[in-house]
Amino acid sequence: MNIRNPQYLVWEFTLACNMRCKLCGSSAGKPRKNELNTQEVMKLCEQIRELKVNRISLMGGEPFIRNDWELVLDFFHGTEQEVEFISNGLLVDKKIAKKLRHYDIYGISFSLDGTEEINDKLRNFKGSYKAIRRAVETCQEEGLRVGIISQINKYNINSIKELYNILVEWQIDGWQIQLTNPLGNAKASKLIVDEDDIILLHDSILEIPKDRQLDIFFADDIGYFCDYEPFLRSSYLQNGVWLGCQAGLLVSGLTSDGGVKGCLSLPDEFIEDNVRKRSFVEIWNDKNLFSYNRIGHELHGFCRECDFAKLCKGGCSSLAYSTMGHLGEIKHCWHRIMKSRSQQDSDQNPLHPQE
Ligand code: SF4
Ligand code: SF4
Repeated sequence: MNIRNPQYLVWEFTLACNMRCKLCGSSAGKPRKNELNTQEVMKLCEQIRELKVNRISLMGGEPFIRNDWELVLDFFHGTEQEVEFISNGLLVDKKIAKKLRHYDIYGISFSLDGTEEINDKLRNFKGSYKAIRRAVETCQEEGLRVGIISQINKYNINSIKELYNILVEWQIDGWQIQLTNPLGNAKASKLIVDEDDIILLHDSILEIPKDRQLDIFFADDIGYFCDYEPFLRSSYLQNGVWLGCQAGLLVSGLTSDGGVKGCLSLPDEFIEDNVRKRSFVEIWNDKNLFSYNRIGHELHGFCRECDFAKLCKGGCSSLAYSTMGHLGEIKHCWHRIMKSRSQQDSDQNPLHPQE
């Protein structure tokens, strides 16, 4: 197959974090054992430039814990390669916001999952809501584009509207909604949504007025093929149509110790190679890697028979792997749930009951 350059790279800049969220998919806290040093980070930036990655998302852990993020911004400043941050907001003060403005970053997103009570509980940190509020204001004062990323789970599924109202009041630019996956700290938790919750989530989003004042978009683990999805699907897919997992195709992920994955959300079993052994360019262009998507993977269960299977290929690989233990099948698919329910209805109420 023709290997294209990655459009979007998510870079775990460090696994160190100053919070210990109950739903952290990477169990962040301590840094990985042997994280890249500044010199290695800068070498990697050159390789990212060579690969012409459109957008680089620096996250953690908490990316601002490292003190060399500014060098990365300086490296990409004035190029067409955009840099954005995903942060928990605790360290973001006026000084940092001014620097981000100076380097004209694409934007910064903070994690917020609900009202003050809900967020502080899920984030396992009293005061996290207020800290995010402050960070949002500080960044907005500097004219930065500010987004919020929310994980939907059993604890906040019934308060989506309240969260929406908060974000409108805060004048947030974009809201990314994703599911809490059973990964990392959330692996054994009871937070993971079920089929009824998926329908509730879709209905809650539908209730939001069409003239909404906030750009809302679904992350890759929510879907698929509902009528209004084209308006909620992220922009790297054609016309908002879900075209299956792009890990190793248009998306890539880097771990803080130099591991290369098709997508950072995938667990570390999916690390293909390490930039300490050979360059990111060489790894990305290796035809033998990322085979689960470049060659393809088997579909299972309902997904195998699904009308959309060719396009969808069984949904988000990370969600599939974390919930089913393999790729090519997920339970949390809107299309699957609706189809099963209409099948059940017609089984219970057959149009031509036998006499
Ligand atoms: S049932 Fe499976 S293949 Fe079909 S749309 Fe849903 S996730 Fe995709
Ligand atoms: S694993 Fe999921 S989040 Fe990652 S690229 Fe694939 S669909 Fe997107």
